[in-house]
Amino acid sequence: MSANGKILVIGGGISGISAAADAAELGCEVVLVEKEPYLGGRVIRMNQYFPKLCPPTCGMEINVRRIRQNPRIKVYTLSEVEKISGQAGDYTVTIRVNPRYVTGKQPVTQAHLDAVATEVPNTFNYGMDKTKALFLPHDAAYPPLYVLKKDALTSEESQRLKNASPGGAIDLDMKDERIEVKVGAVIIATGWRPYDAVRLDNLGFGRCVNVITNVMMERLAALSGPTAGKLLRPSDGKEPAKVAFVQCAGSRDENHLPYCSAVCCMGSLKQARYVREKVADSKVTIFYIDIRTIGRFEKFYYDLLEDPNISFIKGKVAKITEDPVTRNPIVEAEEVIPGKKLSEQFDMVVLATGIVPSIMDSPIAGVNLTCDSDGFLVDSPNGGGIFGAGCVKRPLDVSRSVKDATAAVMKAIQIVRR
Ligand SMILES: Cc1cc2nc3c(=O)[nH]c(=O)nc-3n(C[C@H](O)[C@H](O)[C@H](O)COP(=O)(O)OP(=O)(O)OC[C@H]3O[C@@H](n4cnc5c(N)ncnc54)[C@H](O)[C@@H]3O)c2cc1C
Repeated sequence: MSANGKILVIGGGISGISAAADAAELGCEVVLVEKEPYLGGRVIRMNQYFPKLCPPTCGMEINVRRIRQNPRIKVYTLSEVEKISGQAGDYTVTIRVNPRYVTGKQPVTQAHLDAVATEVPNTFNYGMDKTKALFLPHDAAYPPLYVLKKDALTSEESQRLKNASPGGAIDLDMKDERIEVKVGAVIIATGWRPYDAVRLDNLGFGRCVNVITNVMMERLAALSGPTAGKLLRPSDGKEPAKVAFVQCAGSRDENHLPYCSAVCCMGSLKQARYVREKVADSKVTIFYIDIRTIGRFEKFYYDLLEDPNISFIKGKVAKITEDPVTRNPIVEAEEVIPGKKLSEQFDMVVLATGIVPSIMDSPIAGVNLTCDSDGFLVDSPNGGGIFGAGCVKRPLDVSRSVKDATAAVMKAIQIVRR
């Protein structure tokens, strides 16, 4: 093995976790860097995942156990790579570890929680509710550590926390740290973020209170979400009996994302099942351009076609406005097949917003990463030692992301063992 036989994995979603575990199980030392306080990426925030509709914790738990039990993997959460220099086989990486203010040396107790009253938006739930400024990101968080938003505290709260921490559970003087590591190859698995629905100004997000996005829908349906798994619409907390899904909200649109985001059709079909299962006698309408459910996912679609309470309307939604009294979204669309215009009220609308590669938001200093015209990462050209894995390269479902991660490990290992 070369002197720098380590592999750096950036991003602790399903792709990064799989890559780290695969590489370590093949004998490599691995450094895994995740910017959030927990591993799991977008998948851990889903309610269930297609096609089997199991909770994300089941697949994630196995992978987190592979990480936790493997001494070859060093995990840095709340961390980002500031700089990479060098070349394939010999990279020097600077990692910034941001302060958590919770040391993990002593448990966080009720006295600490009672010391803090200030609330901050709960980003895990896409801001749909609030959480205390001292919080556990979610019930199955790994590492299982609280996080403190120190800047949100009042001076009284800071003092109370200090008084409650004689054993050092909370350290308000924690600073960010810089760590330098030498690695032979890098796997970038920084995944995706949802397209900003506010930019779809004709579709009413941000103006019509009962228009939400598909990622918000996942949290609304989740038992650990803001409504404890009850589907309740934002304006009045009532169960929405009539729900519309708007496909290709941003995707396949030259003004937004010119490409197909690949997973949104299956995402909405899955969410249509949430509605049908959770709200008695509910009716669902899916507005689509084409339903793209390739391979074995086709059966999932065909099963839904059997449900008389789910209708599929081929046609792009032109506009969504809101009834000022009921706050019901009003959807205007053109039905392609009968060739007529439609205007219909729903209780709630879900926008199937597309996938944007997050590498666009945080490029890594020191390396010239090659991205395609849509911003997705392209592996290093010949001779480089930097490879992508998962949705940073293209929109993918979980099983394809995992396979892509294994492929990235195979390429990285050829560098570190040559
Ligand atoms: C509405 C919706 C529903 C879906 N449902 C399903 C489903 O049911 N089944 C299914 O198979 N697929 C589903 N998908 C697709 C699934 O979400 C992706 O396959 C999966 O998230 C890809 O994982 P990833 O690790 O590549 O990316 P991510 O999940 O995005 O993980 C990337 C990780 O990298 C971290 N990161 C980002 N930037 C940095 C940085 N600069 N430094 C350090 N860390 C960083 C992030 O915080 C995150 O933890 C769905 C997608 C959508 C839009």
